[in-house]
Amino acid sequence: MSLIEVRGLTKHYGAVRALNGISFSVEKGEIIGLLGPNGAGKTTTMKILTGYLQPTEGTAFVAGHDVVEAPLAVQAELGYLPENAPLYLDMAVQEYLLMMAELRGLDGARLRSLFSEAVYSTGLEKHLTKPIGSLSKGYRQRVCLAQAILHKPQVLILDEPTNGLDPTQILEIRGLIQRLAENATVIVSTHILSEVEATCHRAIIIMEGQIRADSRLDELTHTSGAVVAVNREADVEATLGAVSGIKSVKRDEGGNGFVRYRVTGDKHLDLCPLIFDVAKDKAWRLAELRPETRTLESVFRELAETKGVTA
Ligand code: ATP
Repeated sequence: MSLIEVRGLTKHYGAVRALNGISFSVEKGEIIGLLGPNGAGKTTTMKILTGYLQPTEGTAFVAGHDVVEAPLAVQAELGYLPENAPLYLDMAVQEYLLMMAELRGLDGARLRSLFSEAVYSTGLEKHLTKPIGSLSKGYRQRVCLAQAILHKPQVLILDEPTNGLDPTQILEIRGLIQRLAENATVIVSTHILSEVEATCHRAIIIMEGQIRADSRLDELTHTSGAVVAVNREADVEATLGAVSGIKSVKRDEGGNGFVRYRVTGDKHLDLCPLIFDVAKDKAWRLAELRPETRTLESVFRELAETKGVTA
């Protein structure tokens, strides 16, 4: 079994279908970006994985524990940074973290050692005696991250960890997440594409409660792509769609008797010469033929346009 296994997860809030049968698995050591527009179902997915919310249907396992049957065992294996995590602003950093450690059942030498490790990993050494309310937003987020990693969880679930931070703080927190990922498997939710590109190995794109794409970032960007514009009469979709190695042929806009298509193919396929040979063979009139690099942004845009959503 994978470290995280999600099968057919559905969640209804009254009449609202927040999740509609999502399935995915996560292996040890991965950093997953859960990406989607507002209201897509990211927080709901995370809350179910942490055992704080019951699914309407489906199952989820973390480190072999069923989130519904054994939420305490799940919570012992994971650290959770909720969106807009609440903090006690009057408490000093140290006081707060020690209280959270005790709530986790840590004590004695183990508490001292894990506390020091969490403080060191999040760079909070010089701020321990300061009231949380006196810290910048970036440092408050570090305190939240420190409480999430206190018990050295195998899995870290971070809901919009850079939300509301300035660009410098965003870079700092991203760096921190990458360092924390050396010792934990991470799922990080965001609606910021560059965040996923900067921090994650794999992106799961969720829209309207459904998974619309699930791909390793290196595979995504190494999928070959091309744009071709040919005379309106040419039967491009069927002809190119039947060529071995071509994955998709999508009609784009056109004009002046030509229609443009976006073509994607297997990673190692040299698409332009291939399309040129087909065009020559079929006597299509070519108005444009160029390679196109696929990025997370182009994939997200294509998916969003299909459903009329914006990031
Ligand atoms: P955001 O990026 O805005 O945080 P999200 O992807 O995390 O969005 P969710 O918070 O999981 O999305 O919400 C999914 C859907 O469920 C939305 O339509 C939201 O309005 C709805 N929803 C979430 N929580 C509740 C609730 N407690 N009661 C009713 N509807 C809810």
